[in-house]
Amino acid sequence: MKQVSIIGSTGSIGVNTLRVIEAHPEELSIVALAARRNAELLLEQAKQFRPKLVCLFEAEEARWLEKRLKRLGIRTVTGEEGLIAASTIASADEVVFAMAGARGLKPILAAVQAGKIVAIANKEPLVMAGELLRKEAIRRNAKLIPIDSEHSGLWQCLEGRAKETIKKLILTASGGPFFGRRIDFGKVTVRQALRHPRWKMGPKITVDSATLMNKGLEVIEATHLFDVSLDQVDVVIHPEAVVHALVEFVDGAQLAQLGITDMRLPIQYALSYPMRFQNSVPSLNLTRIKKFHFFKPDLKRFPCLALGYEAKRRGGTMPVVLNAANEIAVYKFLAGTLAFSKIPKLIEQVMNRHRPVRQATLSQILQADEWARREAEVYE
Ligand code: MG
Repeated sequence: MKQVSIIGSTGSIGVNTLRVIEAHPEELSIVALAARRNAELLLEQAKQFRPKLVCLFEAEEARWLEKRLKRLGIRTVTGEEGLIAASTIASADEVVFAMAGARGLKPILAAVQAGKIVAIANKEPLVMAGELLRKEAIRRNAKLIPIDSEHSGLWQCLEGRAKETIKKLILTASGGPFFGRRIDFGKVTVRQALRHPRWKMGPKITVDSATLMNKGLEVIEATHLFDVSLDQVDVVIHPEAVVHALVEFVDGAQLAQLGITDMRLPIQYALSYPMRFQNSVPSLNLTRIKKFHFFKPDLKRFPCLALGYEAKRRGGTMPVVLNAANEIAVYKFLAGTLAFSKIPKLIEQVMNRHRPVRQATLSQILQADEWARREAEVYE
């Protein structure tokens, strides 16, 4: 029986992770759950899955929850300290990180330092501190494993292969809601940007898919997870979103990973690895899909993808700045105070003001993150 903690259990990845765990009661159980502020859903989850520990980040809601969980013998914790406790709880074998944004970094680092199997759905911490996390993982005998569907695909294609055999990693992108459409990016509404054609996800990542920043971040994520150089990572647009990723080997052979667009698949693999569990997810039916399409990404129309490459090329803390400026730009867009077309402009401007720090420590990474957020906040 594998004991699992979920950090971010009330979001879309968290809820899907619980569905996978619910479907495999013989193999998986829950020891800790953490969420930001959705106390009611967290209470329901705790009643069903009976963890030892529950963390609600917001202190006021946590007091409400504590009263209700006490009689069930479940301990409630709060704040950053609580998040760390849920991420490092001794009885957990594997910790699933599914919180949106940069806030996940400290708890992930703590889980790595506690030697856990760390399954990462939120790419931001890897973009910010991939080097640091990988070094620590080696030192503490922890494992970093991907839940992001493209990286899960790469991981499955790469299983058991020596690093020297890799020529290229190819990530596919659905292209988001605006691929191939003539639309004025200055006038895109929040509703249009949130209408993703293939995946149902949280608002931040859905906007990132519309700008292609999601793929820019994923390129950086792939360099850290698989220890490859930037020019070994390619992106192709694949609107059907059935082929999640491909690996080209030095002999020219390519392996691809295919699957329906259901996050339960990569989540389940991250929990079952190195085994595979049965499930009730519908089979991929290729004769119904019939055709696959592949396109080169249009970097002029979607400059955020180019900015992802650029940030990694400039190196050091530049990806931290890319990520932070993007988070603020996306929240501004969602709040209606920044045009969709201004998202890449804001990010580029903040990047151009940053002098990257090499081999950054955690505190230098967090400093760069804070600096970039401040810069992005005052952008007009
Ligand atoms: Mg992805």
